[in-house]
Amino acid sequence: MSTLDRRLFLASGFAVAACGPSAGAQDGDGVQGVPLFDDPRITPWGAETIDFSAQTEDWWRERLTEEEFRILRREGTERAGTSPLNDEHRRGIFVCAGCALPLFTSETKYESGTGWPSFWAPIEGALDTKADYRLWTPRTEYHCARCGGHQGHVFEDGPRPTGQRWCNNGVALDFVPHPDAA
Ligand SMILES: [Zn+2]
Repeated sequence: MSTLDRRLFLASGFAVAACGPSAGAQDGDGVQGVPLFDDPRITPWGAETIDFSAQTEDWWRERLTEEEFRILRREGTERAGTSPLNDEHRRGIFVCAGCALPLFTSETKYESGTGWPSFWAPIEGALDTKADYRLWTPRTEYHCARCGGHQGHVFEDGPRPTGQRWCNNGVALDFVPHPDAA
């Protein structure tokens, strides 16, 4: 992590967001060695003014587009290859489209060839998982740890260093480019 990134990291209150339940993996420019920065489009843990988990279905319908509602609140899946985020290669942070919690950084994004934005690791503490038995083979569903919005499924056929593939609906994410992003 550069000096600038570390300063922004400390200034932004993002440490709370990135740490989540286990703070051990913060240091070293590994999985969590991420470009962090302040941006009004990001609301890390502790900065939120809304209790997202307490909101009604009507509240979400009003807040989200129809497609966002279908995916985030109904565990829908977007058609492969339709997300502009498949081609998003700038440095930055992918936040939850429901509540703007940072979920992934550009450093963990890779081209999986599936037609969905894919990552080899989430920001620690940002996502919760559950078993999904709706298809013939059980899958692991994951969702935003703050608002509960469905994001995608995680598989064990990803690249190093984790071997994981976090296969995400682009509709469920918003991208916030780093201030220095080209
Ligand atoms: Zn969320």
